[in-house]
Amino acid sequence: MKKLYILSCFLVFGIGGKAQMEHETCAKSCNHENMLSRPSQATYYQYPSLSKYDMKYLWLHLAVEPGSNVISGSSQLNVLAVSPMDSLILEFKDNMVVDSVWINGEPKFFTHENDHILIPLGNIFPIGAHLQSTVYYHGTANTGAVYNGTYNGLTYTASLSESYQAREWFPVKQILSDKIDSLDVWIKTSDGNKVGSNGLLVAVVDSPNNKKEFHWHSRHPIDYYLPSFSVGNYQEYINYAKPAAIAPDSIPIIHYVSPAPGYLDAIKPNLDKTPVLIEKYSALFGLYPFHDEKYGHCQANIGGGMEHQTMSTMVSFGSTLIAHELGHQWWGDNVTCATWNDIWLNEGFAEYSVYLAIEKLPSLYSFTSTTEYMQDAHDYVMSQPGGSVYVPNDLIFNENRIFSSRLSYDKGMAIIHTLRWEMQDDTLFFNTLKTYQNTYKNTVASATDFKEVAETISGKNLTDYFNEWYYGEGYPTFNITYFKLGSDSIVLLVNQTTSAPDVTPFFKGLYELTLQFPTGDTTVKIQLSQNNQLFRFHASQEVTNILVDPNNWVINAVGAIQYGGIIPVTLSEVNILAGADCQALVSWKASNESNLSAYIIEISKDGNSYHQVKTLYPHGDGYYSTEIPLATGHYFVRIKINNRDGSIKYSDILKVNMQCGKAESIVISPNPVHKNLAAQLWWNKDEIISIRVYNVIGQMVATQKQQVFSGSNSISIPTHFLSNGIYEIRVHAGQNNIVQRFLKE
Ligand SMILES: [Zn+2]
Repeated sequence: MKKLYILSCFLVFGIGGKAQMEHETCAKSCNHENMLSRPSQATYYQYPSLSKYDMKYLWLHLAVEPGSNVISGSSQLNVLAVSPMDSLILEFKDNMVVDSVWINGEPKFFTHENDHILIPLGNIFPIGAHLQSTVYYHGTANTGAVYNGTYNGLTYTASLSESYQAREWFPVKQILSDKIDSLDVWIKTSDGNKVGSNGLLVAVVDSPNNKKEFHWHSRHPIDYYLPSFSVGNYQEYINYAKPAAIAPDSIPIIHYVSPAPGYLDAIKPNLDKTPVLIEKYSALFGLYPFHDEKYGHCQANIGGGMEHQTMSTMVSFGSTLIAHELGHQWWGDNVTCATWNDIWLNEGFAEYSVYLAIEKLPSLYSFTSTTEYMQDAHDYVMSQPGGSVYVPNDLIFNENRIFSSRLSYDKGMAIIHTLRWEMQDDTLFFNTLKTYQNTYKNTVASATDFKEVAETISGKNLTDYFNEWYYGEGYPTFNITYFKLGSDSIVLLVNQTTSAPDVTPFFKGLYELTLQFPTGDTTVKIQLSQNNQLFRFHASQEVTNILVDPNNWVINAVGAIQYGGIIPVTLSEVNILAGADCQALVSWKASNESNLSAYIIEISKDGNSYHQVKTLYPHGDGYYSTEIPLATGHYFVRIKINNRDGSIKYSDILKVNMQCGKAESIVISPNPVHKNLAAQLWWNKDEIISIRVYNVIGQMVATQKQQVFSGSNSISIPTHFLSNGIYEIRVHAGQNNIVQRFLKE
């Protein structure tokens, strides 16, 4: 179904929408949401007993005149019991008058209330029993289910049953999963009119009082909302599609349009696009499903178009509306969504059929490019932050939501394009479409069914895709910082925020970027699996800008694209391990070291004041592992990153608890000493110590104070002024006193 609002868009009040149809005067400010007065479904109820039978055959035999919603006649519905049945229940609106009900040729008592006809059967019909129910009725069908009026020289009456309005004009069971296996529609109307309906026109029979009966017959399974009629003072135009698969046969396309003078000539160029579209879609999706019957158009002012099986009802004949309703013959009619939750399978794919028509048959369309066409859809989707393509259960009776042009149509179309992009192979993509059509032809399917076909054909796991784009809400906004790395590379830091983060915090997937350089552009692909992911690309020139998704494969917005300078080093897997030998092992991984000068390991007892314990220089492979001596106690450890440009960064802070029990000691090396005494002092406390040197007769010859830290400390004392001989070094603080002899040479 497709709503247009060509004229009404100047009359309705609504939020911003999107005009997709060429030739339409509807500007971008008009609203595509359902503004027609459809009967409310707020309290829709279905008797569970409807599931006890399978609809096999429907015969409608009605009298209808153009310009009137008065309907009279009978319907025959043949059903097969799939559970034991003591009654037959049909859905039929209470405003219609039921005159009599017959079961297998016998008149039956019935009640008609709460929009259901209940017919007690008198005995139990077992599983497998056939029942033929015939209901005679008359009444004025509600507007919104049956439309009548005059329009451009045409006087018409036409049905429109999607989504819950079949029961407004014939008794039926409105459960999508039960297709009616075949259908006959007899419509009696005044001579001079024509009646369009489903399948083949097998007879036009004279009837008393200057009436004619049109008999349409369809042998294809048909969902409950797709039987239709359109009665009017039509003129007829026929052209033929010739898909290669049935050559030299052809498919007739019957157009019933307004008889206004000059009108047919004016729309003929567009009507003549229909055969070309059928041929193209047959090549892309599989042969037109109803090729042994026909395709056609019936004109009526229903506010847009409706994909009645084999004969779409059309308010007008814009090229995109023709493509949309024709696309539905595959997407909606041949394979129908199993529940209204998955209306995407109808509307998203019908809209994508329009996109494909523009892509594959550009000479038929006036759009500058498919990219521009898709951009319009993206812009409309992003006019609000949330909403899923999937229709949630609590909105399943809300027709404005089911037929939301923003979500079911435009976002639905856009994410099919994204799926095609994810597959990176048009053969797989179109094989998916064909296989799905072939697997579920004449029946119904869910989005899960489609997902399974797509996964089988493509070999890809599409769970993330469906969770993010179909069941999820919103869209991503990209912020990209690009860094220079060496002289021939750039690194992109790709950040993403989302418009509905509580529902969909991140959109993984494949994205296309165009890197713009002074002398030309380079287009690259990135596979995004997490936020703030880094990507490295060869670039011998300065990047001037980056375009995100230049060909509109994925709904997205762009935030900041900025130059981040020289790529900073990044550390990962930073760890510390306490060893029993009073050594702690510090290790880390580093990348992007081009601006790095040195790593300095710093420790702290209180987490505030740090001191340096070790310096390491970059050595190329990015893996670092080094021991630092630490006495018993709790420590904070961090890696200071000294960059060549003078900037400094720190790693995250590590904590370690050392238990090593080593006694305080001093090791002089080398010994004998020459100009300077060098020693390693192991101390178990942070404090200021006194270091004194005595000669053999006990005279103090040198002294200094030094801050030491728990663990290993380097000591250096000038000894160049001492004469050769034996000396003693005494390290002292509080109660601690260490003595060690050395020889000066
Ligand atoms: Zn549609």
